[in-house]
Amino acid sequence: MTYADFAATSPLTEVAKQAWLTAQDHIGNASATHTYGRAARSLLEDARETIASVMKVEPAEVIFTSGGTEADNLAVAGIASRGTIITSAIEHPAVRDAAELHAHRYGHQHRVVPVTSDGVIDLDAFRDLLDAQVAGVSIMAANNETGVIQPVDQIADLIQAQAPRAVLHTDAVQATGWIDIDAEAVSISGHKLGAPVGTGVLIAPRDFPLVALEAGGGQERKVRSGTLNVAGAVALAAALADRVANREALATQLREYRDRIGQCAANLDGYVTGINKDRLPHIAHVVFPGADPEALLLGMDMAQIACSTGSACSAGVHRPSHVLEAMGLADDASSALRFSLGFSTTTNDIDAIESALGRVVSMARGVR
Ligand code: PLP
Repeated sequence: MTYADFAATSPLTEVAKQAWLTAQDHIGNASATHTYGRAARSLLEDARETIASVMKVEPAEVIFTSGGTEADNLAVAGIASRGTIITSAIEHPAVRDAAELHAHRYGHQHRVVPVTSDGVIDLDAFRDLLDAQVAGVSIMAANNETGVIQPVDQIADLIQAQAPRAVLHTDAVQATGWIDIDAEAVSISGHKLGAPVGTGVLIAPRDFPLVALEAGGGQERKVRSGTLNVAGAVALAAALADRVANREALATQLREYRDRIGQCAANLDGYVTGINKDRLPHIAHVVFPGADPEALLLGMDMAQIACSTGSACSAGVHRPSHVLEAMGLADDASSALRFSLGFSTTTNDIDAIESALGRVVSMARGVR
């Protein structure tokens, strides 16, 4: 079996697993004042410092969450509580739907910036949306379906020039550990990096507008409540540090694999979305016009390849991808496959993907 769905969730890395197991042996609530509690707190604060140093921020800016979704919701709710929020047409629902929800709740506007046919934020359109009403912007660092890297630096420059009081949040759930990220607030998810599911971080400076999403003990800067997941935080810190330390070698390897899959798709009259743009090294998003989406996915599964369509799938029903639709690829919006690779991917896996694609794509075209 070949696992090529790292962008959905990664297996644990050995480093993260060992860090998690060791930390898990400690008992004690990190908010307790006894010896056990202080030991747990010390592990947690070490993890916070590691994450801060890797992300080049202050430890006080690191807020532990239950994952990328909660980190996104915290940032987006905070922005929408202050005024107009801008997001993009290709955001994950954790940003897109949260922006709708909180803009409605606070009676503010939610503006959505379109993307080009390459899946990159349309900077001219973005410029036109900026005005004094804008409290903040949430634009992802790289897209989870296409892997296309977004021009966060240019977005920051435009904000600085045209709406200097607005803040910038980026959902870096897929991009963390692959590219440097420069925004005031950043969402990170542990399980995309090889740490356990249910771990995450929002990096946010002290003056970033945040509102609590739930009532409780206010453990994290009074905006995030709940007993802290110490072992999860320790594992996340270990996975992140390990990824960044080994990033160049891994990225070079995965980019080669990614491009082999892209070439294979081209040979089968398919295409790679955003091929002319900077893309994350581990995501190969390929479209096969005319292929039946269910047949593509089921065929790959039967060929022992675990990948995804990249588009939303709820209760087994595939919906066309809002990302491809936003790119003007509505006709092909269901006929895509996302292969996402990681630390345990081997050449044999790519051989298996190539050989399966030939059979499955022709079968899926015959179905239509
Ligand atoms: N944002 C993006 C871009 C994602 O790809 C995902 C998960 O796939 C999330 C947010 C949600 O992260 P989590 O699963 O940690 O809640």
